[in-house]
Amino acid sequence: MDVRTLIFGGGLTGLSTAYHLDALAAQHGAPGLGSYLLVEKDERLGGLTRTEVLRGYHFDHTGHWLHLRHAECKAFVRDIMGDDMIQVARKSRIWSHGCLTHFPFQQNLHGLPLPIVYECLQGAIDAALCEARGEFKDPTDFRDFCMQRFGKGITEQFMVPYNTKLWGCKPEEITPDWCTRFLPRPNIAQITAGALGLVDDQAGYNASFVYPREGGIEAFASRIAARIPAAKVALATHPVAIDFGARLCRLSDGREIRYERLVSSIPLPELLKLATDLPQPVRDAAAKLRCTSLRYLNYGIARPNVLDDIQWLYMPDPKLPFYRIGSFSNAVPSLAPPGCSSLYVEVANDRESTDDEVKASVRDFLRSQGWLGGEAEIEVEEVRHIKYGYVIFDAHYFAAKATIFPYLEGSGVHSLGRYGAWVYASMEDALWDGLQYAKGLASAP
Ligand SMILES: Cc1cc2nc3c(=O)[nH]c(=O)nc-3n(C[C@H](O)[C@H](O)[C@H](O)COP(=O)(O)OP(=O)(O)OC[C@H]3O[C@@H](n4cnc5c(N)ncnc54)[C@H](O)[C@@H]3O)c2cc1C
Repeated sequence: MDVRTLIFGGGLTGLSTAYHLDALAAQHGAPGLGSYLLVEKDERLGGLTRTEVLRGYHFDHTGHWLHLRHAECKAFVRDIMGDDMIQVARKSRIWSHGCLTHFPFQQNLHGLPLPIVYECLQGAIDAALCEARGEFKDPTDFRDFCMQRFGKGITEQFMVPYNTKLWGCKPEEITPDWCTRFLPRPNIAQITAGALGLVDDQAGYNASFVYPREGGIEAFASRIAARIPAAKVALATHPVAIDFGARLCRLSDGREIRYERLVSSIPLPELLKLATDLPQPVRDAAAKLRCTSLRYLNYGIARPNVLDDIQWLYMPDPKLPFYRIGSFSNAVPSLAPPGCSSLYVEVANDRESTDDEVKASVRDFLRSQGWLGGEAEIEVEEVRHIKYGYVIFDAHYFAAKATIFPYLEGSGVHSLGRYGAWVYASMEDALWDGLQYAKGLASAP
């Protein structure tokens, strides 16, 4: 079989690529553009944006809230979902030193014990003075970045403990390159205002988000999938070998596919393992790629408003084995049966606590806050894993990518999306990657 574009992975990146290839083929009257095959190893499309339903509770693969900044993505989502997408204002908090504070920590010190507020504020003032004197240097690592940007107190009270749990490695092992978009950097006036209790609910990149009215985040992926001809999708199928030089791929169903371009959104290390003709330097670089894997728990609890009205809580406390707890149903009530709550708990990447210890700790925490009564209220409690979670931006990251990507591009391979491009990226980035690929192909001579 011959196709112009072979697509690996039916998450949002693959779906957006396929959708936009068809849309642009129709728009340009160029049917060749729409020559593609989307190959997905699972039996269902959607990738990370699938929703599991258990006893009436809806669980995404932890919180998946859609933040849109590109006008083209907003128009795409509107076209796909019409009025079935709702806008939700963020209500997130931080649980630190036994207190609940607003997000982001660095801009909302009010409510913390006064010695902690003082330490954080003084550190932030010192950092601001250093910056004013032109003493900022290129940061050596994430910890150094935080020390220079936020000062010692905020770094040690939140940035280091929280990120150590999230990444499962020391902040000195990672570069700050992942965080420029995701880590709000208030100025000293804003930090001071937040320390005094003046809350700016719009701070950060995610002050509001959109989400399907019904059906969980998978409702969005399913609507895109419904616009893609079934004949161009191979489900429960995966590539078994690729000859990048010959642009030839063998699939698990026995088919051989000859392609002009390959759009891959499967994890980059998995793609490279499939190559029959990978040069040794690329193989060596692939061995340097690092990523966290995630363990998380889903809870269905037969009581309303667990976490009060909070949608998610950041937990920097090193004594607690989880780093975030979220309530799907506090954000979108259709995600739990009436009078009930659906929750997710993301477990720290230390791997030290057993599943049973994590469960006991979650139950204790919820009980201590009055968010759980008897054990009988727990109707769902299950542990799940995501093999590829967060790409680690360590000292080898850029050199490895600088070896791998020129080789792939020279072989007609576009490795896109969060795990294809090997980046820290959002659902909107996945939509954007697919759209940009299709536009690039449409405008190619
Ligand atoms: C814990 C967590 C929380 C997140 N929360 C948010 C959020 O709140 N907001 C937000 O915007 N973004 C969030 N993201 C990011 C978001 O999930 C991703 O950016 C986006 O869904 C990536 O889409 P994708 O299609 O590139 O990858 P994926 O969704 O991973 O899709 C890849 C697809 O490839 C398939 N596949 C894998 N291997 C093969 C193979 N060998 N052959 C064929 N198919 C294969 C998989 O089954 C999958 O369907 C979160 C990510 C994580 C991990």
